Amino acid sequence: MFAFNEINTPLRTIMTPGPVEVDPRVLRAMSTPVLGQFDPAFTQIMNETMEMLRQVFQTKNRWAFPIDGTSRAGIEAVLCSVIEQGDRVLIPIYGRFGHLLTEIAERSGADIHIMECEWGDVFDQEEIINEIKRVKPKVVAIVHGETSTGCMQPLDKIGPACRALNVLCIVDAVATIGGTEVKVDEWQLDAVIGGTQKCLSVPSGMAPISYNDRIEQVINVRKKVEKGIATEDDLLDVKQPIRSNYFDLSQLQDYWGPRRLNHHTEATSMLYALREGTRIVLQEGLKERFERHLLHEKALVEGIKAMGLKLFNDIPWKLPMVTCINIPEGIDGESVRMMLLRQFGIEIASSFGPLQGKIWRIGTMGYSCRKENILFVLAALEGVLIRHGASVQVGQGLQAALNVYELPHLIVK
Ligand SMILES: *Cc1c(COP(=O)(O)O)cnc(C)c1O
Repeated sequence: MFAFNEINTPLRTIMTPGPVEVDPRVLRAMSTPVLGQFDPAFTQIMNETMEMLRQVFQTKNRWAFPIDGTSRAGIEAVLCSVIEQGDRVLIPIYGRFGHLLTEIAERSGADIHIMECEWGDVFDQEEIINEIKRVKPKVVAIVHGETSTGCMQPLDKIGPACRALNVLCIVDAVATIGGTEVKVDEWQLDAVIGGTQKCLSVPSGMAPISYNDRIEQVINVRKKVEKGIATEDDLLDVKQPIRSNYFDLSQLQDYWGPRRLNHHTEATSMLYALREGTRIVLQEGLKERFERHLLHEKALVEGIKAMGLKLFNDIPWKLPMVTCINIPEGIDGESVRMMLLRQFGIEIASSFGPLQGKIWRIGTMGYSCRKENILFVLAALEGVLIRHGASVQVGQGLQAALNVYELPHLIVK
């Protein structure tokens, strides 16, 4: 007998900070027939996706396109294309993904300067600006929404300060793009990396990025086109060519631009998914989408508190799409998560590093960020906590969340 059955996955309610549930319209788009990558029908889809990405990034940048690979592929493409051996890079770290920026920048040969604050905190923007003045880096790389700690770093002053001091500002907005404001032009961010499997509700496997001409100038100087596809004009002597071929933004922009340089083979079905995902975002409206994320966050937070649980960070800089909850004393956090999955088909997350075993993280991102999911997770969590012997305010969580939905005039923001 043939041993392998057709794939038949369980239906889950995914309430993690990614990957999240994929909008069914995106799944349908993914089953669209594959096209050749230089077919005009396909290059039109590439151009339309770039146009929609510009709107999602709120930018007039010429360059806005996806890198094939997960979000860190986008981070790596930007950092390795911009950073030359010995370049000074300042990285403020307030959670796991600040360490990831450091790790990638280090491998690109950067002279790293870090600043760190406690997990659960963010930086005062002035503190970072003073450090920029002191260190005088070529690049500042920083995370906008730290999913590991549920914190969001304000950037509206850091971007303009970088511009004034002629420093490049590179931002990991993987978790925030499509879920809250990421004002690339207004905040004067030079390069921004987004994620698909978080608030865009597209599967993991692509990373939309956007960057301006300040970044383009840096990478164009390092441009080295592969010999087999280069023309006479390309065969220049380049002092510090970009070390990665796959993540070489100078070649990638010629692939996405009118030259259609034959670089990699585009991930056709993923691009269909991203195109549909960004189309859904713009159709909903950025403002409406951000408000939806706030509404469901509010219902979840009210429910969690009314149940008698404590938020890890009940603070103004809380990341709207990730809610961190202190695991009550004496309760086995992993056992609760396992029971939620086994009995209810609900997935929530734990955390990393110093927060491992201390908090649960519930994501409210993209298509997963819906009323029925919030109510379901609150009801299930209460049931599971009771089975674990935790003391909860029985019935209160669901009622508090329902109040948010049914009595919106009572909500104080
Ligand atoms: C999820 C996440 C990443 C990494 O994403 P991958 O797709 O797993 O590579 C990077 N930064 C932040 C802030 C994230 O939340």
